[in-house]
Amino acid sequence: QFVKNCTKAVQKQPASSKQKPLPAARCCLHEMKFTLGTVTKCSGRLGALGGLDRLPALSLDTPAIIFHTKGGSIPHLSKEAMQHVATSDPTFLHLSISNTLHMHEAVKASRITIAEFIAQNNSVTMLFPRDPSESPIPGVPERESLPIYTRYGRRNITLTEYMEAVEAFRPDAYAPLYDGDTDGGSSKKREQKSLDRTEKFVEQCLEWHRKSEALQACSLIGPVVGGYNEKLREKSVEFLHKAEASFAGYLIDGLHMNGASVASLDGKAAVPIVASVCKQLPEEKVRFCFGAYNPSLVLDLVAAGVDVFDTSFVYVKAAQEHRALAFSFDVKAKPDDHTTELDTTDAQLAEDFGPLVAGCACYTCRKHSRAYVHHLHNTREMLGPILIMIHNLHHYLEYFKAIRQHVADDTLPELREHLASQKSLPPYVPKEDKIAVPAAVAQKDSTEASEEKEQLPDDMQSKKQRA
Ligand SMILES: [Zn+2]
Repeated sequence: QFVKNCTKAVQKQPASSKQKPLPAARCCLHEMKFTLGTVTKCSGRLGALGGLDRLPALSLDTPAIIFHTKGGSIPHLSKEAMQHVATSDPTFLHLSISNTLHMHEAVKASRITIAEFIAQNNSVTMLFPRDPSESPIPGVPERESLPIYTRYGRRNITLTEYMEAVEAFRPDAYAPLYDGDTDGGSSKKREQKSLDRTEKFVEQCLEWHRKSEALQACSLIGPVVGGYNEKLREKSVEFLHKAEASFAGYLIDGLHMNGASVASLDGKAAVPIVASVCKQLPEEKVRFCFGAYNPSLVLDLVAAGVDVFDTSFVYVKAAQEHRALAFSFDVKAKPDDHTTELDTTDAQLAEDFGPLVAGCACYTCRKHSRAYVHHLHNTREMLGPILIMIHNLHHYLEYFKAIRQHVADDTLPELREHLASQKSLPPYVPKEDKIAVPAAVAQKDSTEASEEKEQLPDDMQSKKQRA
């Protein structure tokens, strides 16, 4: 019904005279489709993603989240445990090459798609080069490849290896290989390199895609890079417009280095960049923006025009920081003295027999207490992160329902204000991670590496990288 309504709404809209004609469509009929619904004045837009021939009934109302996975599974949650979060299968899955590359040979030999291989044939599979919960390897990547951590250690994945894996997996949609490893601290030179490398990778991937029989049913997602440089962002969008391919959607990347640090990203710098990119992208195409953004920043990105996020925030909070999401998104609720997150390692919870969040309808909050979840952490029980993941996913899915309602009512600023009035916990500091390199040192290493690398000849660079 929603898609029907959206289609009607789009049909009613007069074609904008300013909009440039799209490049010759080379896509096939199977392409993932985005139907734009309402566009509001200050709260972003509503839409629906779906229309796949393989799964015609599937439709994802946007703004939405797709499920961040590791190796095709939602971390800590088996299929049975997921039934406590949602009654149906998770519909859209985010896969990354770093934790699926080891499946390549097996998938190729069995001649089935990745969706069948991970027993998620009823879900839409989307493959990307980066896992939003993992920070990339420090240093500047080599020219012809992208460094990734796999289950067998560090690997430099080449374009050929990437495309061979994509061909074997046949995901419903994928992004070409690209270099989006820039953040607010990246130099202009690094941002330019990220754009140059991305253009080269995308050109080669498109050529491969056009020639490949196996990929004809896969939709392409165009990566927009260029860090915090508006001109480079413009060039990146222009390049994708000129590329002789029809992208099903666009991925805005290069704002951060993924991982837990994204939660403290400075929105004042990132949001204007995203907003200006969104203005240059075709309105009728879906926009993705992945990373563990904090809930307030998500609202700013929605208002800027982003449609789809991922659930890496939920995973980072539950599995790495042992925190349950507790922020309120009910604007009618009275201001409470609780914080936006609950630290389940806090000794004060040892005798607290209330739910993680009062009034939450999730399985964890209905069946278990704060004291029990705290005890599971103390005894290192595997059930601990499972129960927090169930709660966090439920909370985040409900949050996105509220976001869609606020977009429909054009009242997103009200929700933003409500979130801002709540107290947050101090940033998480790992207690037991003695091996981890302090952030400042790691950053210094990476800066030094990037500065030195630019002057070193190739053989010395590889020696340095091995060292
Ligand atoms: Zn709950």
